[in-house]
Amino acid sequence: MEMEKLVSLCKRRGFMFQSSEIYGGINGFWDYGPLGVELKRNIKDAWWRDMVTGHDDLAQLPGAPAAYEMTGLDCTIIMHPQVWKCSGHYDLFHDYMVDCRESKKRYRHDQIQGRWVEAKDKKIFATAGSDSESPEADIERQALKFFGMRSKNADELKWDGPLVSLTTVDDFEQVLGPDAKSLGTLTPPREFNLMFKTTIGALGGEADTAFLRPETAQGIFVNFKNVVDSSRVRVPFGIAQVGKSFRNEITPRNFTFRSREFEQMEIEFFCHPDSSQEWYRYWRERRFQWYKDMGLDEGKLILREHDPEELAHYSIGTADIEYAFPFLPEGEYGELEGIAHRGDFDLRSHMEGKLDPSTNPMTVELNEEGKPKHRGSGKDLSYRDDITGERFVPHVVEPSAGADRATLAFLCEAFTEDEAPDDKGNMQTRTVMKLHPRIAPIKAAIFPLVKKDGMPEMAQDIYRSLKKDWNVFYDEKGAVGRRYRRQDEAGTPFCITIDGESMQDQTVTIRHRDTLEQWRVKADDLSGELRKLIG
Ligand code: ATP
Repeated sequence: MEMEKLVSLCKRRGFMFQSSEIYGGINGFWDYGPLGVELKRNIKDAWWRDMVTGHDDLAQLPGAPAAYEMTGLDCTIIMHPQVWKCSGHYDLFHDYMVDCRESKKRYRHDQIQGRWVEAKDKKIFATAGSDSESPEADIERQALKFFGMRSKNADELKWDGPLVSLTTVDDFEQVLGPDAKSLGTLTPPREFNLMFKTTIGALGGEADTAFLRPETAQGIFVNFKNVVDSSRVRVPFGIAQVGKSFRNEITPRNFTFRSREFEQMEIEFFCHPDSSQEWYRYWRERRFQWYKDMGLDEGKLILREHDPEELAHYSIGTADIEYAFPFLPEGEYGELEGIAHRGDFDLRSHMEGKLDPSTNPMTVELNEEGKPKHRGSGKDLSYRDDITGERFVPHVVEPSAGADRATLAFLCEAFTEDEAPDDKGNMQTRTVMKLHPRIAPIKAAIFPLVKKDGMPEMAQDIYRSLKKDWNVFYDEKGAVGRRYRRQDEAGTPFCITIDGESMQDQTVTIRHRDTLEQWRVKADDLSGELRKLIG
């Protein structure tokens, strides 16, 4: 599938628009149009229903070590600045950036790739930026230009080693920046915090600086005690939250995949330290299955377990659920969701002060004066099991998903071009969005075959009665074939047509978007039939 086709359909049919488009757009921000808002809302609702409100607190689900409870929260985007100091985001949530003195462009240090190459008795590290679609070719072009050689002499370039990241290079004097003509124009890497800053109140001093949350998770940790004290939940239990997060990403790209404002769907699952490994395994499988159940092709999904060296010592494991997005090179996958075992790092950091994750057992990170670098709340966030009497700080398993990345994956998966007959029976290429009926923006479209003989009246009655339960659409304009096509592009799984026969026997035709199968049902049975089909 070519990404341009999906991007153009998204704009044409109102799934997604560039934010502030009439002013030329703003990089890393996207708006959801009339169809997109329904799609994304259905995805978030399906997640909430499957993980929270529809969860059976009493049953032991397959693969789960025990029965567990689920509950929800909705926290503010701006929180006390100390939250981000104790969570580690203030110190650690950064990328390293390099600036080019010549081109005035800024790049992420780890995203510049290059190769060592020699010609005319000089060896340089020629590079390409992260937006390059064919870095090897771009690097060769860079090197030829630098050495003043023609492309027909490309075999005179002596390459030393494969494509590697700029992070492997110490001496920037030999580096040719992605958009530079001379060597050594890149500055040393500098830290860049990804949190958006804002100011609270009218005075606007440094003390009034606050941050837009870069994840929803911290709101859950700092409310842990409130939830335990106000509801009757017992460990093990999970708290879920859906909401906006903000990261000042250096290179927003790939449509909505990496945006600066996005929505997350996160669960913090609190359990006893002894069973946290089993819970980690349970959540990893449970969340992977969810994407399959919602229609993603298993062949395009992987569950990538992080290497033990990548993990903090307090964590048993972290796994990413990744999808083969069509904008990525063959064999590469992009993260949809991370499932992390976080031990007691977060609750203890908010209690005692930011812990130093490199210590074992973990102790509070100290400043030069030997005092906590970031002071905790001092509140007791431990939990007492009222049956066993044991008091402990629960361990946390965190399945953290992105609503926008999930929406993008479902759109990529759904985009299909096949053949279908037009009004005259000739086969034509059609574009169809094969979205799972649960997340489809419009569940059914209702068409009177013609605008006379009582058909519109009957169709409108059906429309109004179905509207009570679902987002359905009424359309009486144009040839029926054209009306089908518009709904195929919108991903509407069922079209209901009211024709001459309907007026005689009160039956209507249902057409299935994917199989093109058509069958008649009694108008009175339509609601029940749709309920079965939508699931
Ligand atoms: P990446 O490595 O791609 O930057 P991450 O590992 O930093 O992602 P997490 O901090 O684990 O991401 O966030 C959890 C989820 O939030 C991700 O799996 C993703 O779905 C979503 N997410 C994170 N950053 C962005 C972003 N800039 N735009 C859209 N979604 C995002």
